[in-house]
Amino acid sequence: MEENPYQNALKQLEIAAKQINLEPWIHEILKHCMQISVVSLPIKMDDGTVKVFTGYRAQHSTALGPSKGGIRYSPDVTMDEIKALSMWMTWKCAVAELPYGGAKGGIVCDPKKLSRGELERLTRRYTYAIINMLGPKKDVPAPDINTDKQVMAWIMDSYSIGVGETTLGVVTGKPISIGGSQGRECATGRGLSYVAREICKKLGVALGPETTVAIQGYGNVGSVVGVILGQEMGCKIVGVSDIMGGVYNPNGIDPLLLKKHKNETGSVVGFPGTQDITNEELLALDCDILVPAAVENQITKKNARNVRAKLIIEGANGPTTTEADAILEKEGIIVVPDILANSGGVIVSYFEWVQDLYSYFWDIDRVNQELERHIVKAFHKVYNLAQEKDVSLRTAAYMLAVGRIAEAIRVRGLYP
Ligand code: NAD
Repeated sequence: MEENPYQNALKQLEIAAKQINLEPWIHEILKHCMQISVVSLPIKMDDGTVKVFTGYRAQHSTALGPSKGGIRYSPDVTMDEIKALSMWMTWKCAVAELPYGGAKGGIVCDPKKLSRGELERLTRRYTYAIINMLGPKKDVPAPDINTDKQVMAWIMDSYSIGVGETTLGVVTGKPISIGGSQGRECATGRGLSYVAREICKKLGVALGPETTVAIQGYGNVGSVVGVILGQEMGCKIVGVSDIMGGVYNPNGIDPLLLKKHKNETGSVVGFPGTQDITNEELLALDCDILVPAAVENQITKKNARNVRAKLIIEGANGPTTTEADAILEKEGIIVVPDILANSGGVIVSYFEWVQDLYSYFWDIDRVNQELERHIVKAFHKVYNLAQEKDVSLRTAAYMLAVGRIAEAIRVRGLYP
């Protein structure tokens, strides 16, 4: 059960519902996704055969506005994972005070085994299969694991052809040339770094060369966190891992050279001057800040007691299970939850959507300043509530998020 992200998401909702005395009817609504599509996607492969893939799109809530959430391509995609991720998106948008509900999508596939042509046909067929769910005022996808700006461009193009007009605001995370926003690619990692700086200030610690950081996952989120915390904020990155394994150097790892090594070799493993470690060892490193930035269910009741970091800042969605959370809290380890810490991506996606709707585009300084303002404000609201109610940051973030959605449902009322 611990491994099922949807069960985990329901437990987190239950904790918040109790804390805010949520009316049972609203709790009942929030346990369910509003709409889920399961689609079969027949694709002509390069060798002439036809293969059928399965795709999902789940919309958890539209109480506050159109639903918003990424699309992932992975062999591990399941319906329950997509449902959980769509629920987390609802909370994440609400914590950041964005006028969105939550959604998530995915295709069960291994993109590394697909040619570019196969990937494009799969993306276009998926878009067409769910076209009635999508739209700038209905549901706005974005990149997630193994999807990027090229995939978003194909979705935007397929949708635009389907509806007969170029529609920039139907997806975010697009290339700049077709309505993407400056700063979107780095937004999640940048936002997380601002949150790291703020929580450290609260703990009376200034980020600097004495601050040691370990990062699990060195993709879009993890590598940007590495570069901003390691270069701009001067911390010491002591350990990094990816799906192939990890590397460790107590004297510090250069995050930019590591990124170059990863781009050249496909993995962080084997980076000169480091010692190989496993992912389990990485999660147990003695460091100040641990940033899980890979996938769900990494810190569980089995390994939570091994964690030696003082602070966990969640880059990934759902990296810590509810059981692990309870153990970490007992051990005095502070967890900054995903729905706050990694919200920089959706915040800048929101800016992209606004720019697309107005066809008026901002420069990078404006994007980064607005991102900092939004995420720092959200952090302080969550932190202050946690102090006031004497609850964890996760519970406080959920209380704020669920409270905001509940208020929207309450005033909108139940139809019919
Ligand atoms: P990505 O595909 O760019 O990178 C994922 C990284 O995790 C890769 O380095 C991969 O090798 C590693 N990884 C995968 N499985 C692993 C495992 N079992 N153990 C260790 N490492 C593993 O993806 P991303 O966009 O960086 O997303 C990472 C996480 O952050 C996901 O949970 C995603 O949902 C979340 N997230 C991403 C964004 C965004 O803007 N990209 C926004 C919010 C949240």
